[in-house]
Amino acid sequence: MSDTRVAVIGGGVIGLSIAFHLAEAGVETTLLERGALGSGASRATADVVRSYFAGNAVSSALAVRSLDAYRAFPARPGADLPLTQVGYLVLFSEPEQVTAFEADLPAQLDAGVDVGLISVEEAREHNPLIGDLPLLAAAYSPQAYVSDTTAIVNAYADAAERAGATLRTSCPVTGLDAQGGRVFTADGELTADAIVCAAGAWSASLVRCAGVDMPLIEPIEQELLVTDPLPPGTPDIPCTLHAASGLLVRVRGDRLLIGMGYPGPDREAWRRGVAAQLAVTYPSLAELALHTAVTGLRDASPDKTAFIGHLPGPPAFLYATGFSGHGLCNAPAAGELVRDLYLDQDPGIDVTAFAVGRQRTG
Ligand SMILES: Cc1cc2nc3c(=O)[nH]c(=O)nc-3n(C[C@H](O)[C@H](O)[C@H](O)COP(=O)(O)OP(=O)(O)OC[C@H]3O[C@@H](n4cnc5c(N)ncnc54)[C@H](O)[C@@H]3O)c2cc1C
Repeated sequence: MSDTRVAVIGGGVIGLSIAFHLAEAGVETTLLERGALGSGASRATADVVRSYFAGNAVSSALAVRSLDAYRAFPARPGADLPLTQVGYLVLFSEPEQVTAFEADLPAQLDAGVDVGLISVEEAREHNPLIGDLPLLAAAYSPQAYVSDTTAIVNAYADAAERAGATLRTSCPVTGLDAQGGRVFTADGELTADAIVCAAGAWSASLVRCAGVDMPLIEPIEQELLVTDPLPPGTPDIPCTLHAASGLLVRVRGDRLLIGMGYPGPDREAWRRGVAAQLAVTYPSLAELALHTAVTGLRDASPDKTAFIGHLPGPPAFLYATGFSGHGLCNAPAAGELVRDLYLDQDPGIDVTAFAVGRQRTG
C-alpha cells in the first residue's frame, strides 16, 4: 500500500490548486515543497488575471474558465479575493498586428474571451496617458483584473488542508521513480499511486526522471520595475501593452508597475530601454524614476502554452508546468484538469492541446 494516493511536487499556485482540487474530490494528497509555499515564481507576479492571450486561444480558454473560478472564490475554495477590474488594452502600431488580431479573433471568441478591435481614439479614452506615438488601432478586453497572488496561494493552501491534504514544506524532492511510484526527498522516500510534477521553472529534471520528453525552455529571469509616485490626478488606466515594444504597464497603488521582456545580461541597458520606451509611450511620465519592484524566474514552453497531461498508471505520472508567464491566469483550471485526468473524468476541454507532443508552434 502506498504512503499517499497522490504526491504533488511544488507548492506554487499551480501545485496548490491541484492539491486543493484533488483533496476536495476526496483524494488523499501530499504536497512536497522544497521551501515555503508560494516562494517560487508565484512570489513575484504582477497580480494580473486576464483572459485574452493573443494568438493563443488555447491558453485563453483555460484563463476564461479560471476567471469564472476566481469570481466564485468566496464560495469555493472559500476566501474573499481582491479582484479589481482594470481591463486589458493592446496598442497596435503595425498593419500585421491588426491582421493577426483579426485572424485570431474567431478562435478567441470561441474560447469565451470578450475582446474587440477599437480605434486609436477609443484607446486614448481608455488610457489618456498614451502620447502622440503612431498607432493604428488597439485590442480591448474588459476581462482583466488585479488580484493578490499571495491571497490566492494562501486560500488554496488553507482549503487543501481543510479538505485533508498534507502540505510538507522545506521538503526538497531529490529524484523520483515514476514507474515504481516512488518520490525521493531529503527526508526519505514516499510512495504514491500517482506523482504530479508542478515544480514550475524547476520541472525539467523531474519530468525527465519520469521519461517525459518535455521541451521546456531554460528558466528566464524577469524583472518588473516600479515608478516613483505618479503625479497627482493621474487617471486610472487599464493594464496596457504596447505590442511592438512589449512595454506592459498597470497602476499599482500610486505608482506604475512596468514590465518589458527580459533584462538579459546587461540589466542597465535594459533599464535604459524601458525608460526610453516609457517616455515615448507615456511622455507625461518621462521624468519618473524607475526602481526594481521584483525579479522572478519565468518557466516557459516553446509555444507559450502550459504542459498539462499524464502518463496513465498505476502508478500514474501527471504534469502541469511551463505556464509561460500566465500561471496565475490558468491556475484554477489547471487544478481542475489535473484532478479530472487523475480521476479519469471528462475535463470538459480538449486536454490534448496541452499534452507533451502536441503539434503547435508559436
Ligand atoms: C516577474 C513575473 C511576473 C509575473 N506576473 C504574472 C501575472 O501578473 N499573471 C500571471 O498569470 N502570471 C504571472 N507570472 C507567471 C506566474 O508567476 C507563473 O506562471 C506561476 O507562478 C507559476 O506557478 P507554478 O506553481 O507553476 O510555479 P512556482 O510558483 O515557481 O512553483 C513551483 C514550486 O516548486 C518548488 N520546487 C521546485 N523544485 C522542487 C523540488 N525538487 N522539490 C520540491 N519543491 C520544488 C519551488 O520551490 C516552487 O515553490 C509572472 C512571472 C514573473 C516571473
